[in-house]
Amino acid sequence: MSDKNLLEAYALLRSVTPFEFDCGKLCGASCCNGDENTGMILFHGESEMFSGDEGFKIKSNGENDVLICFGKCDRQKRPLACRFYPFYPLIHERGGRIRFDVVNDIRGAASCPAVYKGLKPKAAFKRAVKRAALCLARDAENLKILRETAEMLRDLTKLRQSLNGGRGSSHPVRLTCRFCAPSYRDGFRQV
Ligand code: SF4
Ligand code: SF4
Repeated sequence: MSDKNLLEAYALLRSVTPFEFDCGKLCGASCCNGDENTGMILFHGESEMFSGDEGFKIKSNGENDVLICFGKCDRQKRPLACRFYPFYPLIHERGGRIRFDVVNDIRGAASCPAVYKGLKPKAAFKRAVKRAALCLARDAENLKILRETAEMLRDLTKLRQSLNGGRGSSHPVRLTCRFCAPSYRDGFRQV
């Protein structure tokens, strides 16, 4: 992708935060406590930005590059997945038009209080996520990642509903998936 689009997405999410408070205090920043087998899916063009940086490793999950960190980073460098989290821009396409909803990222629903409590982001954060996603969608490979991730989030929601036999979130189902879906127990919510 052109650096311009990627850098614009980075800039839009550089300083905006999802909440007025530090949500890391709710959970000891559990989303930063990964291991060698968990990481953040990189968008096209991001791998080059982290290549050679001693603070990170890049692996592949077979389809995408995944960034492994060591629990600390320079906030200005963090990848887009971390800038979006605990939300995700869910793509909708109709009549050739693309729009995004900002939803709780259900992949974190078993570990992230912001997700399982269904916290809502600040309006400025939502706007920034949507605008950043539109920048990414200008690139065909990133559009593909946005589509595939949206499909995965929708599938996870359907699977959860099916496994729960329609009993709702009081009977949570937990799944684990290397790299991309640490666990979840709830459906995504549009916020
Ligand atoms: S995004 Fe979720 S897991 Fe990460 S620090 Fe905030 S509440 Fe904790
Ligand atoms: S890259 Fe930074 S923000 Fe993202 S999980 Fe690692 S330490 Fe946390």
